Amino acid sequence: MGNIRIDGRIVEYAVAQDDAEASAAAEPPPKEESKADSKDKPKVIRMHEKLERPEMLIGSTYKVKTPVSDHAMYVTINDIVLNEGTEHEKRRPFEIFINSKNLDHYQWIVALTRIMSAVFRKGGDVAFLVDELKAVFDPRGGYFQPGGMYMPSIIAELGHIVERHLRSIGLLNPVGPSEEQQKFIDEKRAEFEARNSQRDAFAESSYPNGAQLCGKCSVVAAVMLDGCLTCLNCGYSKCG
Ligand SMILES: [Zn+2]
Repeated sequence: MGNIRIDGRIVEYAVAQDDAEASAAAEPPPKEESKADSKDKPKVIRMHEKLERPEMLIGSTYKVKTPVSDHAMYVTINDIVLNEGTEHEKRRPFEIFINSKNLDHYQWIVALTRIMSAVFRKGGDVAFLVDELKAVFDPRGGYFQPGGMYMPSIIAELGHIVERHLRSIGLLNPVGPSEEQQKFIDEKRAEFEARNSQRDAFAESSYPNGAQLCGKCSVVAAVMLDGCLTCLNCGYSKCG
């Protein structure tokens, strides 16, 4: 960026971002139309605070039932589709709402959803929210989801929902064991189940009875195989 001579009053500013792609978005939004470098490039609309909310947004609602509350929570994330019909089409989260009959958490829910929506509308990288939320733990203790995953708090569960949503709209890459790893996991699982064929009929988890909590993926799926703790969910093994 070269030097810019300032002739008039500064009436607006935006924080510069080091990401090259985001540099265009850092310009003041109202001037987007008259951008000098838009001679042959098509105008790409990016997420910014001044983007007006369209009349209609598409969204997804996730139901969250935790053992720490009698009532379910419904988390709705609405998305905005930018540059629809062009090669720059991108779906981005625009706002988040949480509904629950449980009013114990009302004030923090309102505060959290307003702040998260504001972060969504600012644009840029919003995936950091996932890690921040997932790292929150409840000092009274967490709980296990029916699938066997350990949730250190309701907020962390919210982080998992936002993560799932961002993956579903393509803002985060899907992660999971690679094909090779999955094959290894399946083999190990078959081996373990063949050895320990007796299972608890009431076990909620889809992993073998007696599985331990995996330190890497927080799922109760780690089993002892050949003296080595191996996770049947993510493939993590203590012995490398
Ligand atoms: Zn694991």
